[in-house]
Amino acid sequence: MNVFHQLKQLIMKDVSNENEARKTALIIRLFTLILGCYFVFQCIILSVFCNIYVAILGLVCVVLNLMLFGMTYLNHTQLTLFLVQLLTVSWIILYVYTLGWDCGVQHFIFVILILNFVVGQNSNSIKILYAIFLCCLRIGLYTFNKIHISIFTLTATSGAFMQIINTIFIFILMTVIVVISNSESIAMEQKLTTYNEHIRKMALIDPLTNLYNRRAITDKLEKLTSKQHYEHNLLSIALGDIDFFKKVNDTYGHDAGDAVLVFVAEQLLAMIRPYGYVSRWGGEEFLLVFKNSNGDDAYTILNNFRHSLKKMQIPYKDEIIHITMTFGLEEYDDNLGIDKTISNADKKLYKGKENGRNCVEY
Ligand code: GH3
Ligand code: MG
Ligand code: MG
Repeated sequence: MNVFHQLKQLIMKDVSNENEARKTALIIRLFTLILGCYFVFQCIILSVFCNIYVAILGLVCVVLNLMLFGMTYLNHTQLTLFLVQLLTVSWIILYVYTLGWDCGVQHFIFVILILNFVVGQNSNSIKILYAIFLCCLRIGLYTFNKIHISIFTLTATSGAFMQIINTIFIFILMTVIVVISNSESIAMEQKLTTYNEHIRKMALIDPLTNLYNRRAITDKLEKLTSKQHYEHNLLSIALGDIDFFKKVNDTYGHDAGDAVLVFVAEQLLAMIRPYGYVSRWGGEEFLLVFKNSNGDDAYTILNNFRHSLKKMQIPYKDEIIHITMTFGLEEYDDNLGIDKTISNADKKLYKGKENGRNCVEY
């Protein structure tokens, strides 16, 4: 059991070259191992029923396949793939030349045909040229065998055994190549989806507060105010700014300032969640969007929040920090547009600061 586990780990090992896919290495490893087993069976059949010299050729193929298996760990996957195909074509020619068409190894050409299309990195035109070459090779081998008599003749029994093991191994190889290729493609797709999701999130989320950033909230506002969404809906926009935030930084340090920003972001999010969205507009400024709310509704919600925020104790290390916030609130009007509504909210925020802070200016 342990040996199987170790072998599985060895086969599944990723290639360390970042520009080489694991899929190719994985398929080559299984391909060479399965072919290694094939040649062992073949050696047994040929040494019992046919000719010991041909059986020795099989042993050489076992060794060469194992060497190619080992080569996949040296980060030259594409070179190994080329050598695997070269070796396979070579032994097919050699076997058909030695044992004749009836040994049936020419069917392995179909396996390398699939290998070429599934894992090769060449352009499609090169792959098609290679496929034409394989087709010609098969026709060439057939024609050659019609003209020349093979060196050794297979007995009826050994011929039958060869056909059976050829069929079994060709089916195994084709199945393995396609299954691994499919499952690795699905895994790669999932990896890319997760990565894209991560990139998308990074582009829209503020890393400190985990709130939407300016770009994300602008997108949201554009969607909310687009014709089909806005028609019968109300919308209010508020800009909030922490009062004397510089003092928090100066008194408790920049890290404390960060902790306060995170705390405020959490409170704002909890408050706005049922009504709309909040984003970090920049520094210690937040932009809030109240969906389906007129200015009066938004004012009530914001004013209640302002009162409760004032009473909150923000723990930082051994300190307790208190803060207040000033808000500028503006009801959205389609004639004003987003930019003008935000700029009006900003003016009101400024007015609120002038009027002594800790208020909602509406
Ligand atoms: P006001 O009541 O007028 O808004 O005063 P204020 O001190 O809050 O305003 P001011 O614009 O003078 O200072 C804002 C400060 O916010 C300055 C800046 O260093 C700090 N700040 C901006 N972004 C961050 C941040 O990400 N982390 C921390 N800790 N501080 C920040
Ligand atoms: Mg401030
Ligand atoms: Mg500010």
